Amino acid sequence: MYQCVNCGTQVEELYRQYSPNVLKLLKCETCGHLADMYIEYDPVIILVDLLLLEKRAYRHLLYNCDLKACWKLVIILWLVESFRNLYLCDNENNNEYIQSWRSLQRNLDAHCNLYLILFKTAIALAAFVAVVILLTKVKWYFYPTDRTKCDVNHLTKGLIIGGSGKLLGLLEIIWGHIFSAPHYFLILGYTLLCLFTVYSVVSNNRKLESLIILGTGITVYSYTPDIVSATLKTLQFI
Ligand SMILES: [Zn+2]
Repeated sequence: MYQCVNCGTQVEELYRQYSPNVLKLLKCETCGHLADMYIEYDPVIILVDLLLLEKRAYRHLLYNCDLKACWKLVIILWLVESFRNLYLCDNENNNEYIQSWRSLQRNLDAHCNLYLILFKTAIALAAFVAVVILLTKVKWYFYPTDRTKCDVNHLTKGLIIGGSGKLLGLLEIIWGHIFSAPHYFLILGYTLLCLFTVYSVVSNNRKLESLIILGTGITVYSYTPDIVSATLKTLQFI
């Protein structure tokens, strides 16, 4: 089933094709607008609307497109976050901001080991997705909304797409200001807005509920590397 990008109502078809060159977009019976006008739009316009955090564009991408390359996005996100963590680990003694930010885990990060950082980042990303899905399922269980919209598959894809804002960090490498505080806070803020928008589209939760669930997920994401390091030290793996 597809979704109307304007109101989120499920629709059976988005258009009818009368000939190879003629297709007619169908209207949503609930809101009366075209169910998905993005079908006729240029991909660049869709990308611009995604960057502008248009909920309609996120609905089009999540529900009306066949997203098969999500796993590639996961790998890119994982590598970019790992690179950032490795850079912070290598430079924590030379940067006052990073020193204060990472002071709590300095004792735990005795080894700036690439494989260890890749492992910890993967666990942290998985923990973030797992916590958000778990809390969302708990919320759906106790306060069911429209069951047809509560799909874990779409929620996972939404979190991956929302987290893609962090890929803007790649631009910092080009600019030569790698992960410095002002630039990174801008990217972090934009990523949070992306996550909030896409999570609202998929979960249909209220704003406060979305903020609490995403906030909990981000807190877990922040502390998971420390917990993994402490566990590995306890088990004498590092
Ligand atoms: Zn509609």
